[in-house]
Amino acid sequence: MALAPYAVTDSVSRGRQVAENKPADGRTEFQRDRDRVIHSSAFSRLQGKTQVFTRASERFGQGEEGVRFSDHLRNRLTHSIEVSQVSRTLARRFKLNEDLVETLALAHDFGHPPFGHTGQDVLNECMSSYGGFEHNIQSLRIVDKLEHKYPRFEGLNLMFETREGLIKHCSLNNARKLGPVAERILNKQAATLEGQCTDLGDAIAYSCHDIDDGIRSRLITPESMMEVSVFAQAWEGVGREYPGLDSTLHLQQTLRDVLGLFVRGIIRQSSDNIADARLTCLADVRTAGSLIALPDGLAEEHKRLKSHLYHTVYMHPSVSSVRKDAHTVLNSLFTAYMNDAELIPQSSRQGLLAHESDELRARVVVDYISGMTDSFAYQAALDLKKSAPALEMLL
Ligand code: MG
Repeated sequence: MALAPYAVTDSVSRGRQVAENKPADGRTEFQRDRDRVIHSSAFSRLQGKTQVFTRASERFGQGEEGVRFSDHLRNRLTHSIEVSQVSRTLARRFKLNEDLVETLALAHDFGHPPFGHTGQDVLNECMSSYGGFEHNIQSLRIVDKLEHKYPRFEGLNLMFETREGLIKHCSLNNARKLGPVAERILNKQAATLEGQCTDLGDAIAYSCHDIDDGIRSRLITPESMMEVSVFAQAWEGVGREYPGLDSTLHLQQTLRDVLGLFVRGIIRQSSDNIADARLTCLADVRTAGSLIALPDGLAEEHKRLKSHLYHTVYMHPSVSSVRKDAHTVLNSLFTAYMNDAELIPQSSRQGLLAHESDELRARVVVDYISGMTDSFAYQAALDLKKSAPALEMLL
């Protein structure tokens, strides 16, 4: 399929940091990026990282009574694949670079530490005197430096537009430190349309799948979701179309309809936006502002859905109990590794010398901790407690 003139392609790309020959098997450069992401260690670890629900806390006996953890709950890996599904649908429809969109979707959560958003907050606190911790910047750091797989370069040596798309947003201060890859943020320019598709695809995917996970875990019920009109209308519509349908299928068809409604809304609104902007090339995208968007009415509905999930699911005691765990586990790991970097395996502290500054040491420590899966972090904290009883107080 011929791509739109404003899509990101090999020929308009700003390329890789270290020059390489073209793939010998005929793949494009952006297919190669996607394949490098799939073969990375950070990608395999997504399956052990919490999106919203953690199974690790259940294993450690801290799941709340009446709350059910099931094998069907999303983790960061299944979430990322669902983001890829939604955003690729959009990309193909707008004749954009589907491989770039897929790469961004699969790698967009690489930088998230264990224990979801709480993990991010805790590590950011730990790093407050050492330049902070932002998961988007960490995603870039992983693909630029921390993946250790290729003899010719550090990281995965990805294409400029892939790296740029992973930052999404960051503080101006950090953008200055990052250099050319964050120019767009300093110049207040729009992301590529591929980046915009992935961003909105992410928001739509998680708000739909978190309804499913919230109901499966018994934190909410379909009845309690009726306050959200986009859900209520879809539910009633399914009831009219399939009278007497069993409750599982009723819910699944409702979720499918809600997701479809959002996706079709984005296609409608964004097609108009793209046509109105009269784009002729990628440079036009940069100055055109946000074009991939929901129509106003649906954007309002989406906001209401997110706010409902925030109050009923994300702030639910059984989900927020993970917050206490996250504080304890991550704070104790950070303190222990800062005091004695030799507790970190040699392979994860390459180049760290005893005399190096606290700031450098803290960066190595946070790289190591943020790469952990939930259960690895729990286990590491328990092991430390055994080997260093002085940490007993912390756990
Ligand atoms: Mg996400």
